[in-house]
Amino acid sequence: EAKGEPVSAYRFYSAELQFIRDHQAALETEMRLGIMRGEFEVYYQPIYSVSTGRLRSFEALLRWKHPERGMISPVEFIPIAERSGMIIPIGQQVLRDACRAAATWPSPVGVSVNLSVVQFKDCGLVGKIEEALRESGLSPDRLDLEITESLLLEPSPRVISAIERVRELGIHLTMDDFGTGFSSLNNLRRFRFDRLKIDRSFTRDLEKSDSAEIIKSMISLSKALQMEATLEGVENETQLAFARNEGATEVQGFYYAKPMTVEDVAVLLREHDGAVAA
Ligand code: C2E
Ligand code: MG
Ligand code: MG
Ligand code: MG
Repeated sequence: EAKGEPVSAYRFYSAELQFIRDHQAALETEMRLGIMRGEFEVYYQPIYSVSTGRLRSFEALLRWKHPERGMISPVEFIPIAERSGMIIPIGQQVLRDACRAAATWPSPVGVSVNLSVVQFKDCGLVGKIEEALRESGLSPDRLDLEITESLLLEPSPRVISAIERVRELGIHLTMDDFGTGFSSLNNLRRFRFDRLKIDRSFTRDLEKSDSAEIIKSMISLSKALQMEATLEGVENETQLAFARNEGATEVQGFYYAKPMTVEDVAVLLREHDGAVAA
């Protein structure tokens, strides 16, 4: 039997793998504890109508306030939560908190909740959505679910029936991060998405290259399919003017506000004092 290279390579690989496994197991335990200790908090970022300038809804964005590591970004912990399956209880908490919060806001201000592909593998997903609505008393048409293109790449029968049931309940559907993945345009029609959310990467590069043309074509696609189009990541006047001129229906971004706590949402709503619209 040969000794040397393959063996040491294997050992190295194995040690590295073990390290990753230990690290993930530790994080998974920390997540479990974090849920119990209330370290996960939902923040909300306002979304405005382009034509009226009025507040329409908020996107629920999760934050992890880790006792030692400080604030951890969802970009970091969501993939780990997805791999470990912890996204299922965490996602359920987001749904519950978001529906409860939105039920206290003036109608028709709604809430958008991001759903991971992994949450669709849970056969209890639709039941959990219904439970969050029932428990909060929120009307289904004030809830919007944001899903990404990857979910529809090869949709399983479970995914298809979950989406169809969500539609039957009168919940809205948004295609998030549009343009960054592989979309079947047919799926946009088939599942009757209400809205396309144009990814922030296009907004950011507006003045560069072909981004402006890409955004324009995504907006015209949304119009052709009777969908709304939200431009994400609007940080300045130029980007807002572009959204307005090209006919985006909604805007979201730091130009207006960063994601904020539920307490700050209450303050913002008082300031708006009824300047909200359908
Ligand atoms: P996303 O759903 O595309 O959310 C938009 C992200 O863009 C948010 O980042 C938001 O804070 C950020 N953003 C909005 N406007 C601006 C802007 O003008 N400038 C800049 N630089 N950034 C802006 P965040 O909160 O870090 O979330 C990142 C991603 O994590 C989300 O992207 C979403 O995919 C995921 N995520 C967040 N919360 C949840 C959740 O509860 N469940 C699931 N499954 N995923 C979540
Ligand atoms: Mg989103
Ligand atoms: Mg997005
Ligand atoms: Mg995005």
